[in-house]
Amino acid sequence: MADNGKTISELASGIKSGEITARAVVESSVAAAEKLNETLNAFLEIDRDGATKRAATIDSTSPLAGIPIAIKDNICVQGMQTSCGSRILGDYHPPYNATVIDRLLSAGAVVIGKTNCDEFAMGSSNENSAFGAVKNPWDTSRVPGGSSGGSAAAVAAGIVPVALGSDTGGSVRQPASLCGVVGLKPTYGRNSRYGLVAFASSLDQVGIFARTTEDVARVLEIIAGRDLHDATTADVPVPDYASQLSGDIKGARLGFPKALFGEGLDAEVRASVEAAVNVYRDLGAEIVEVELPHAQYSIAVYYIIATAEASSNLARFDGVRYGFRAEDAPELRQMYRKTREEGFGPEVKRRIMLGTYVLSAGYYDAYYRKAQQVRSLLKQDFQKAFERCDAIITPTSPTPAFLLGEKVDDPLAMYLNDVYTVTANLAGIPGLSVPCGLSAGRLPIGFQLLGGYWSEPTLFKLAHAYETAQPFTERPPVHAD
Ligand code: GLN
Repeated sequence: MADNGKTISELASGIKSGEITARAVVESSVAAAEKLNETLNAFLEIDRDGATKRAATIDSTSPLAGIPIAIKDNICVQGMQTSCGSRILGDYHPPYNATVIDRLLSAGAVVIGKTNCDEFAMGSSNENSAFGAVKNPWDTSRVPGGSSGGSAAAVAAGIVPVALGSDTGGSVRQPASLCGVVGLKPTYGRNSRYGLVAFASSLDQVGIFARTTEDVARVLEIIAGRDLHDATTADVPVPDYASQLSGDIKGARLGFPKALFGEGLDAEVRASVEAAVNVYRDLGAEIVEVELPHAQYSIAVYYIIATAEASSNLARFDGVRYGFRAEDAPELRQMYRKTREEGFGPEVKRRIMLGTYVLSAGYYDAYYRKAQQVRSLLKQDFQKAFERCDAIITPTSPTPAFLLGEKVDDPLAMYLNDVYTVTANLAGIPGLSVPCGLSAGRLPIGFQLLGGYWSEPTLFKLAHAYETAQPFTERPPVHAD
């Protein structure tokens, strides 16, 4: 049994029946990671020894027994590095596990490595990593999306069945869409952020990549739920997500925000997402037009709030406690300045400056406060829309994967990639990206389902119904054997 490219369900039943050992599964995953990393640069660290040792001790009755997983390099895994794709963290090795990691390990999963990402999760193409861009397995001259591009590429290339990322404005959903895999940003407060390096704390959520919705559901039910280490986790019961996927969706009301299908949307993406809407219609869903009148301000609002929070969160990286410290700086202030000057890349510096500016006296009211007000209006837009529908469908990204280098010199063009995804973070609602086809140039396209708070079961059911009707079975040219 060749195990790369299989789903959790397939691997788990192989391991349980004794057809294959956890050790063999993990070894082939590690081997694929090592081999394909030369082409993809998806991993910043691969833990061959740790992973094989752990695989040998797995109890095959655990729900994720022997399942290899990859973790974005801004989520703490004890014994491994957490660089956040930044020089400033250097070879920082956290002394503890993020809560989501503890839960995965207790369920029997095996972390095989840490994945490359945009520096501090700031970016939409992975080109902001201090350790080189990740390549898209569908076309290595193109970006995998960002910021969790390494995790998306690792799942798309069949190295692991599942990977974790973080999503502050689309960093799981957008790369999932560009790499042809499923990506979830859960409701804010669903997953613990303890051990996730903070970018913008009111928007950040740990998200999941997999090849099927079922696998995303299986992992969410393990990692979700209240955590005393993170006061923003909600005390909302965690359902048995994976057992609620099937069943028909007749009568489900799917919101169609027509205004979002206009200007700036690539024609092939529009056609593909509209075809998905028709699949839902054929499955018996009722398509309801909805309005999100404040969605047009979401990029502006997001890039004010996210940068404001980042400027504060990133103040802790000063050369004193973590990672890198500049040399030849005999005086304290000089050391701070030099460490930050040398340690942060240009996009992170741009965000710290933007964020400091919008929070500064005199500008706070005009920018930060205004943005918070519009954020409230956007939340109300969604509340109103969800009175009329069970979920909303949009494209995930306005275009398929673009060329490496195409947008690096134009931050605004890069920010506009997030136009469909940032709304979910601003409103705190869940969003799920589902592959729905390939462009003429064989690049993946995805649609996004958005739902009200804690509506993950509804999103999963809708996505599963689509996958059953229109299975996406294509594989990229760069893929594990
Ligand atoms: N692309 C967005 C940004 O650059 C989203 C990042 C994210 O979700 N971490 O901020």
